[in-house]
Order: sequence, then structure tokens, then C-alpha cells
Amino acid sequence: MPNFTKQCPYCKNSNLIEKTNLPGMHFGALVCGECDRHIKWLPDPRIDKQYEERRQSIDNLLNRESVKA
Ligand SMILES: [Zn+2]
Repeated sequence: MPNFTKQCPYCKNSNLIEKTNLPGMHFGALVCGECDRHIKWLPDPRIDKQYEERRQSIDNLLNRESVKA
């Protein structure tokens, strides 16, 4: 996101707060510290790592299958 500026799209304040101790499925959220509106969800960095590891092991399995066939 090259043009992403860290400011609230509603009130243009740059006082943004990252909340990461949320109940439920989301890792965290970026909210405006001024108008308290939700700006965006924050991805869980651990899920990215798990996804990458799973993708690699699937690649390994596929490679092994293609060698067999
Ligand atoms: Zn705001």
C-alpha cells in the first residue's frame, strides 16, 4: 500500500490505536483514537507463518507425487 497514510479516513486524525487483545477471531484492529471508529483489521503475523509453512509442505507433497507419477 504505497499511498496508505496512517490517519483516520473519517476525521483525518493521525492518533490511531492498535487494539490486539480482542475476543473473537480477529487478531487486532486499528481504531481511531479521536473518533473511536474502526479503520481496519490487523492480520495475525503468526497465521501468515503457519500459512507459509503449510503451503511449503503441500508443495513438497505435490513434488513427491509428480516424481512418483
Ligand atoms: Zn477518526
